[in-house]
Amino acid sequence: MGLSPSEWFTEIFQNEGTAFSLQIKKHLHNERSEYQTLDIYETETFGNLMVIDGCVMLTQRDNFLYHEMMSHPALFTHSNPKNVVIIGGGDCGTLKEVLKHDCVESVLQVDIDERVTRLSEQYFPELCDKNEDPRATLMFDDGIAWMKNAEAGSVDVVIIDSTDPVGPAEGLFAVDFYRDCYRVLGEGGVLVQQSESPLLHAQTIIKNVQQDLKTAGFSDAHTMPFPQPVYPTGWWSATIGRKAGSVSDYRQSAVTAKTFSTLYYNDGIHQGALAIPEFMKTL
Ligand code: SAM
Repeated sequence: MGLSPSEWFTEIFQNEGTAFSLQIKKHLHNERSEYQTLDIYETETFGNLMVIDGCVMLTQRDNFLYHEMMSHPALFTHSNPKNVVIIGGGDCGTLKEVLKHDCVESVLQVDIDERVTRLSEQYFPELCDKNEDPRATLMFDDGIAWMKNAEAGSVDVVIIDSTDPVGPAEGLFAVDFYRDCYRVLGEGGVLVQQSESPLLHAQTIIKNVQQDLKTAGFSDAHTMPFPQPVYPTGWWSATIGRKAGSVSDYRQSAVTAKTFSTLYYNDGIHQGALAIPEFMKTL
């Protein structure tokens, strides 16, 4: 299109034969943290962009889709969520959504890499403007180790807002980790895990997450697809596991009566996300 490649950020999905690009105005930041390579770009049309190890994490324009679907369906599935733990989530977008729930008394965010949060404070300040809420605690540690040592029955909802299942996040997509989550969750506990693209990963990651949750003891597991333009295929998912009962049962009247604002999530979206696409019925 007459533009030099240097004016575009491109993430290539080699195995899929596809790529996603954003036109950039400026490369704002690059560093190698203790755990990963972090880049921030200013784009022409999607606001600021965060990239970890070459993979798109979030943009200012469309992160609301992911952050709302990683928080509200799980919180409205639990009967009375008071204590929430977010594993990963260092950009703080999920934390901000969780704090919208008045019933939540504490939210602990455990991200392995403090630099992600510091960069988010600088380049995504609108996601971090509730970080000083007295109910919120930011901890910088390995989520796998934290969960192994956490007190049994002490958490109502676990949100696994992780990078792809490689590097430090690999162990977050594993039955042993889900067993620890199951133990740490109280009666009626709910877990939600970002579970990649339904189009690319239904028969691999999504199937494994559902099976591993059940192996770990969860009575039900359901995958909720949602649009996410900047992730591979533009279609993403969150898989919810419930210790007792069905993921289909949620506090519907509380959703319709919610007093906080959202840009995507509402009761119709929740109901739609409970439907199972035909090709995913046999997972
Ligand atoms: N929305 C993003 C996505 O799906 O691409 C995820 C965003 S969030 C920035 C992912 C976070 O997971 C990163 O900040 C990373 O540091 C964190 N992370 C990866 N492995 C982790 C682990 N073992 N324990 C805690 N945090 C971890």
